[in-house]
Amino acid sequence: MIDLSTKIEEVPKIGLTYAKRLKKFGIKTVQDLLFYFPARYDDFSEIISIKQARQRLGQTVCVQGQITEIENVNTFKKYMPLTEAVIQDDNAEIKVIWFNQPYLAKTLREGDFVCLAGKVSLYKEGIFLNNPGYERINGIGENEELTHTGRIVPVYSETRGVTSRWLRYIIKPLLYRFLEQIQESLPEEIIKKYKFLPIQEAVWQLHFPDTFSHADAAKSRFSFEELFLIQLNILKEKMKLMQKQSLACPMDAGLMKKFTDSLPFLLTDSQKKCAFAILKDLEKTVPMSRLLEGDVGSGKTVVAAMCALNVIKCGHQVAFMAPTEILTKQHFKTVSGLLADFGIRVGMLTGKNARVCKDGECFEISKKSFNGDLENGQIDIAIGTHSLIQKGVNFKDLALVILDEQHRFGVEQRDHLIKGKKLVPHLLSMTATPIPRTLALTVYGDLDLCLIDEMPKNRKKVKTIIVEPSQRKEAYEFIKREVSEGKGVFVIFPKIESQASKLKEAIEKHGPVSGSFIPQNYNLAERYNLAERYNLNSLASLAINEVKALKEEYERLSKEIFPDLRITMLHGKMKPAEKERIMLDFKKGEIDILLSTSVVEVGVDVPRATIMMIEGAERFGLSQLHQFRGRVGRSDMQSYCFLFTTDPSMLNRKRLKALVESNNGFELAEKDLEIRGPGSLYGTQQWGIPDMAMQGLANIFLVEKTRAAAKEILEKDPELKNYPILHERLKNFQQRIHFE
Ligand code: ADP
Ligand code: MG
Repeated sequence: MIDLSTKIEEVPKIGLTYAKRLKKFGIKTVQDLLFYFPARYDDFSEIISIKQARQRLGQTVCVQGQITEIENVNTFKKYMPLTEAVIQDDNAEIKVIWFNQPYLAKTLREGDFVCLAGKVSLYKEGIFLNNPGYERINGIGENEELTHTGRIVPVYSETRGVTSRWLRYIIKPLLYRFLEQIQESLPEEIIKKYKFLPIQEAVWQLHFPDTFSHADAAKSRFSFEELFLIQLNILKEKMKLMQKQSLACPMDAGLMKKFTDSLPFLLTDSQKKCAFAILKDLEKTVPMSRLLEGDVGSGKTVVAAMCALNVIKCGHQVAFMAPTEILTKQHFKTVSGLLADFGIRVGMLTGKNARVCKDGECFEISKKSFNGDLENGQIDIAIGTHSLIQKGVNFKDLALVILDEQHRFGVEQRDHLIKGKKLVPHLLSMTATPIPRTLALTVYGDLDLCLIDEMPKNRKKVKTIIVEPSQRKEAYEFIKREVSEGKGVFVIFPKIESQASKLKEAIEKHGPVSGSFIPQNYNLAERYNLAERYNLNSLASLAINEVKALKEEYERLSKEIFPDLRITMLHGKMKPAEKERIMLDFKKGEIDILLSTSVVEVGVDVPRATIMMIEGAERFGLSQLHQFRGRVGRSDMQSYCFLFTTDPSMLNRKRLKALVESNNGFELAEKDLEIRGPGSLYGTQQWGIPDMAMQGLANIFLVEKTRAAAKEILEKDPELKNYPILHERLKNFQQRIHFE
């Protein structure tokens, strides 16, 4: 017997091979499959006559007819087999061409009736239907139920080996069989209040909508539901945390003044405001959960050090965690410098070594004695990587955990540090990633937010310039001059996605396009962009992977453009130690130009770098571009950000212009959200926010509604005892996403 919980490999027609592929999307059971929703739809709902279709060049149409000819033809391009056919109805005929589907000539035969949906295109020999979706029918004009054509057709996000067509073919019969077994998960009062579609209806309409407004109604139900689950999850955690206690530490105003007086600069107003808010939180026994947000270079570390000092002088310990060794070392140097005059013992622990500084003297110690010192309270503040939360590393009296650039903002890290303990450390998370309000509410729930929204006064604004292809040479000359003055240059090269699947997708969508010329002096990123836009066939010759693309650019830069300069590559496939060594060499001035994919470590300070040059700038989100830009302009020298693009599309122009005009990360993140949708937000991928919730993120009202609903339910019924199905969903959901 098959039911909703049956494993997909046991479902007829799926089998082991497909089951394996589906598992890559996290689909394990029949239920998972029914909840695997389409990413978008094709509207093939209007069926027209072939005669009418022939008038609609360039449009996507749906027609019915009888096949009069069908055969495979050989082309000189081996990689692309063609199938040609002719179909006719009562008074016209049209040619059909399929690419890359040689089996079609066997599946479809002369005399078959078919319904086809595709683009009417023009080729040498005339008008044809370009790579249409197809399905066999009984006859023309009969009112048959259709799946792949003649309706609003679901399109799923595909990976290799699982097509939308196959998914429709599998999912539809399963829906007929099991829809009725799906139980309602939303509380009845919510369904009533917001007039949502009941779950069975919503699942059906999402896969095979009657109209687009049906699909929208179904979508908004699930957007709500997923955001609601996220909120329930967060609020439950929060309630648990609120029952714990932290060490309270009164603010020592005199000490804080002494600290700020010791700085070679004045704190900005934002820094003061944030420091004060944090110090106030630390006075309470309620565990603090605070997110300190501020652009790169806005001075978060000083604020953190100041609060740490106060906690230490209360007699407690502080842990300060950074994502990489190189940042750990940088923080260690900064913090031990800032706290040098306050008689504080600063320790550093990385995977490899341990160090301690006191009263301006620093020395190496063994990890063993480091751990000993930590346990008996000899170390006041421990700065380290993940090694700080490893087994065997114990604090005597930990009151505050500071996290720098941890994308999941520390809930997990704190869990490690508090395991089994009654007392919970306060948590201060710092990030330069600007997070729009909807996302902040969703991902961090009740995390308190504090913004450093101004830069120290001594900074010069980074000049941001969109560089047209014709200005490339000029830009290179400029770089040469800067380097000759001892300045450093970052070059960011976009990741180039796997070409094979792109090619296939492109051909399916647009059909073959005859060759066009791509200037040789264009680099790979530009060629790729052009190829993508004008000349899909030539993509085949670009079958390359990311590292190869970077290498080619490296060769070009080091041999042709800057033969006299010292250029080094940095990419994601390198070992951390190697990346770190390169970053340090760059910092020291032993490398002039650092060429990398988007891996440039967040937060690494290279004051001598004054140029950030970004290839294929349109491929990045605004927030990410802004982050890249933040790598320069970290000294009193004038810095520049060059955005290279060959993309003439207005939308991307508009986006890049926004970057030129704004220097405010939050503004840019909101713009990205507005222009490119929530999927573009930096970090959303890592957090694993499900699709529907993601779409809902664009809507602050929806987010607030789900929050209110979650609060209301939990206040009535904290354990969700009266909502068993919701409770079950929540448990599954927690496993699926990783907020904690
Ligand atoms: P973030 O961590 O926010 O990117 P940092 O804390 O590393 O920024 O600060 C960047 C640099 O600015 C450091 O060299 C720091 O000493 C300096 N700095 C911090 N606050 C100020 C300020 N108010 N005025 C001038 N310089 C500052
Ligand atoms: Mg920092």
